Amino acid sequence: MAIEKTFSIIKPDAVERNLIGDVVKMIQDSGLKVKAMKMIQMDRAKAEGFYAVHSERPFFGELVDYMISGPVVVSCLEGENAIENYRNLMGATNPADAAEGTIRAAFGQDIQNNSCHGSDAPETAATEIAYFFNDDELVG
Ligand code: ATP
Ligand code: MG
Repeated sequence: MAIEKTFSIIKPDAVERNLIGDVVKMIQDSGLKVKAMKMIQMDRAKAEGFYAVHSERPFFGELVDYMISGPVVVSCLEGENAIENYRNLMGATNPADAAEGTIRAAFGQDIQNNSCHGSDAPETAATEIAYFFNDDELVG
């Protein structure tokens, strides 16, 4: 299995509830390695660009409001099969449907306030990492 990089966001609901460390522990316990990590406050344009694929969805406005409601922790993670493994660690989009042992089952509040984001394919991972990190920040 190839070594891959993926992109993660610890979303505002989890940062606000002091869960950064708990989420990072689950990430690291899974074997994923942190290559880069920082806390940022996105502005509207940044969040709209990040979720542009969802711009026609009815929840887009609320999703952007939520993503800029407070700081987030963005990271680049690396490991074997990292993209799929991290999606599995996050669990289903709706925490009510997320399997036990996943980040969203442990911490997610509802389908919007679901505590984390993870890239869904190699192309999106590369785009999303570059959207938030310069090469000289990928130091891990
Ligand atoms: P993410 O892209 O954040 O990793 P995902 O791939 O599991 O999540 P998407 O369908 O890409 O899910 O939705 C992006 C985000 O939009 C979700 O994580 C959630 O915060 C929000 N969202 C998704 N569906 C809904 C909905 N029906 N109502 C409100 N918010 C939603
Ligand atoms: Mg998605």
